[in-house]
Amino acid sequence: MKEIKGTAISPGTALGRLYIYRRNERASGHEEAREPEAELQAFDAAALKARKDFRELVSEAGSRKDRLGAELLESYLTMLSDEEFRSEVKELIYGSGLSAMKAVNSVSERFAERLEGLEDEYLRSRSDDVRNVASHVMDILSEKYPGSVLSGFCAEGDGPYLLLAEELLPTELMRAGKGTVAGLVTRKGTAVSHTGILARSMGIPAMTGVDIEELEAFEGAEAILDGDQGRLIIGTDEADLKDLRDQCRKERENGAFGQEAGTGMACAAEGSDTRAAYGRPAIYANVSGREDIEAALRSGAEGIGLFRTEFLYLKEGRMPDEETQFQAYKEAVLAFSGREVIIRTFDIGADKLPEGAEGRDMSPDYRGIRVSLDNRDEFRTQLRAILRASAFGTAAVMYPMITSVWEVREARAVMEEAKEELRLSGIPFDEHIRQGIMVETPAAALISDLLSREADFFSLGTNDLTAYTMASGRIDEHMEAYLDGHHEAVLRLIDMTARAARESGIGIGICGELAADPELTDRFREMGIDELSVSPLLIPALKERR
Ligand code: PEP
Ligand code: MG
Repeated sequence: MKEIKGTAISPGTALGRLYIYRRNERASGHEEAREPEAELQAFDAAALKARKDFRELVSEAGSRKDRLGAELLESYLTMLSDEEFRSEVKELIYGSGLSAMKAVNSVSERFAERLEGLEDEYLRSRSDDVRNVASHVMDILSEKYPGSVLSGFCAEGDGPYLLLAEELLPTELMRAGKGTVAGLVTRKGTAVSHTGILARSMGIPAMTGVDIEELEAFEGAEAILDGDQGRLIIGTDEADLKDLRDQCRKERENGAFGQEAGTGMACAAEGSDTRAAYGRPAIYANVSGREDIEAALRSGAEGIGLFRTEFLYLKEGRMPDEETQFQAYKEAVLAFSGREVIIRTFDIGADKLPEGAEGRDMSPDYRGIRVSLDNRDEFRTQLRAILRASAFGTAAVMYPMITSVWEVREARAVMEEAKEELRLSGIPFDEHIRQGIMVETPAAALISDLLSREADFFSLGTNDLTAYTMASGRIDEHMEAYLDGHHEAVLRLIDMTARAARESGIGIGICGELAADPELTDRFREMGIDELSVSPLLIPALKERR
């Protein structure tokens, strides 16, 4: 048995034969250039044909209700209509006497390299998309279209395969489809590249950072891909193969992964339904920025249970504008394609207040929803940013420091205003975005029956709940002995809240540090907690225990 390690980018396990995908070797532009006019005409015709192809794929994705796929392809359409791209191609054809094929190749490389030079990782990874679009146009120009190796391999039809490739373009993955590709192993790619995002949304386990050439000797061998840990285990004899099949069967029976090869994300994609399907809590991640999101994906998080948005405020040193927030939330939602991302509105306290609010002698408990409701314009701006991001996947919003029913009603009213503004501007968002509350004050836990009628879900913030229940604060080390989450008073409040959630049929998670406490996992499962959200580092161990 041989084990290869890489970086996990899409969770789940898959069993299949290894198949190396070698992209069609096209004429690669060795041909002589014709008259510039003929070359430019050839380019225009190929771009038109590519637009038509992508439009067809958009409508196919639409009929599969694959919003992410449709959006991705829409962005390709925009790229194909880009005037700057065409004028650079034209310049090379007329100015340097290049063929259309060579000109497209060179301009797309230039565009891709420009993106690769940017600091923003998300934008950097968009260079794949430029190459994808160009590659399709070049396929058409080379007249080999659509005879890619991939479609030939699909026709063999005895998949599903574990596909090995230097890199795979999103459209290639889409064209091959889930029935053919059980798992994906590439050398290039990241969790936020579109191929990574698509693999997750299609439920295809994937890993990257693997030297594919080294695996040539194993082509055709049966192997198991562990998309949670980033491992590829290749069977080398009959005994190995039996072990691999047993291992895969066991994992499916345990319900830790999907039911079939290639459906690893099926359970995770449905968020808290994981519990309904498997009788155990889903494991989500607490994040506060891009690095955490990457780490959460790598460690197999099944969603984000708490996105602490204050980090944006702290990073900027002031209230971030709507666009900055939108980009940050959208990135998280896209990275978790389809899986739930719960974004908590600012929990900014007296020590870090919005402009204009300084100067008052504030209580340390003046924070969270209390500050948001006193600064409605900023609050509405944040809700607009979250709503806009909700168009790109599954976002939910959560309000911190709730103590009363009226606060939830007020927050929902501001949400309605934000929605109406977006509707009037024709900006898309998820009309049914879920609005939950943090239960992190004893007051909220004690009236959780009343609050469960106002909120779509609860998330227990056990850090504050413990501090406020035990009258101990969270900061003073002299209080440490009192800050006891195992105290019966805290556990009773948690239990009470869980019961109220169950009776109303709303979801309940825990996002405070107690969620990762090994001594309490069984108790939380028995209470009917749907989701435990912890720091990414703690996810693998918690997954074993849940
Ligand atoms: C909590 O209070 O448990 C919680 C998760 O929120 P924070 O730690 O950000 O206050
Ligand atoms: Mg809190």
